[in-house]
Amino acid sequence: MSAQIIDGKQLARDVRADWKRRVVDLTERGVKPGLAVIIVGDNPASTIYVRNKVKACSEIGIHSEVHHFSENAQQGEILECISLLNQNKCIHGILVQLPLPSHFENNKVITSIAIDKDVDGFHLYNVGALVTGSTNFAPCTPYGVMLMLEQYRIPIVGKHAVVVGRSNIVGKPMAMMLLEHGATVTICTSKTKDLTQFTRLADILVVATGRPRMITANMVKSGATVIDVGINRLPDGQLCGDVEFDTVKDVAGYITPVPGGVGPMTITSLLCNTILSAERTKLSV
Ligand code: NDP
Repeated sequence: MSAQIIDGKQLARDVRADWKRRVVDLTERGVKPGLAVIIVGDNPASTIYVRNKVKACSEIGIHSEVHHFSENAQQGEILECISLLNQNKCIHGILVQLPLPSHFENNKVITSIAIDKDVDGFHLYNVGALVTGSTNFAPCTPYGVMLMLEQYRIPIVGKHAVVVGRSNIVGKPMAMMLLEHGATVTICTSKTKDLTQFTRLADILVVATGRPRMITANMVKSGATVIDVGINRLPDGQLCGDVEFDTVKDVAGYITPVPGGVGPMTITSLLCNTILSAERTKLSV
């Protein structure tokens, strides 16, 4: 058996085409959605992510602006910038590209973003809202994964979902969203003993560890849906996921490739959250 490949690129195109109509509608009614991105330093990966976000915004008709600070910038400067953006009526979404340099306090910076502009969903209030089932903004990567499951009509209710990884930006919110949608959820970490005994029980296996190709075919139940969040750069420059795609695809029912799987859906979710935020301001006028 060979798994059906979940085509994140095509799905992202379809979802963006749908949401583009909402941007047109908003713009015609005088609200052009706007996203502000704050980046500190010149981390090469962050620079590429920011460039991709700006490009995606421009393609869908969202105004975007980048506030770039040097590596040595002080936290106060960033807080001041966020405070101005919070008050700026043309900006509906604010995101701070992580990681920040080590002299920054992540939580202090993130919680200075207005909760109704926190399109990454990392503000403590929005994390609490997600956990208590009244989501304000869903974090982009897990939101993208949920859109994939929905579009491919993969059942969640009553299924066993295993999430490998417990980061605040992927693993934990992913587990919460699957739980909210009726899955029975297990979270595994680097401390889990005998990982395979858990992953083999998964109907839906989401892997977000940053460990290249650590999930092999013997760790996957026949017919399972395997979502590979990992993006790893190998020494030869090639990109790969946390799942050994070539062997796991012969066991799984559905599988996401890397690249071309979860990645494009993460940016798509950011666009959706920004548009949602602009729609909310329009409603509240
Ligand atoms: P983190 O490093 O923050 O978290 C990794 C998690 O994986 C930790 O919880 C860690 O456990 C767990 N882990 C590490 N090794 C193992 C192991 N051998 N067995 C079980 N669990 C393990 O990473 P992120 O969540 O930020 O990112 C994970 C991957 O996803 C990376 O490759 C990243 O590049 C990618 N990514 C992709 C995105 C996309 O859009 N496609 C978006 C965001 C991230 P412990 O807590 O015990 O240390």
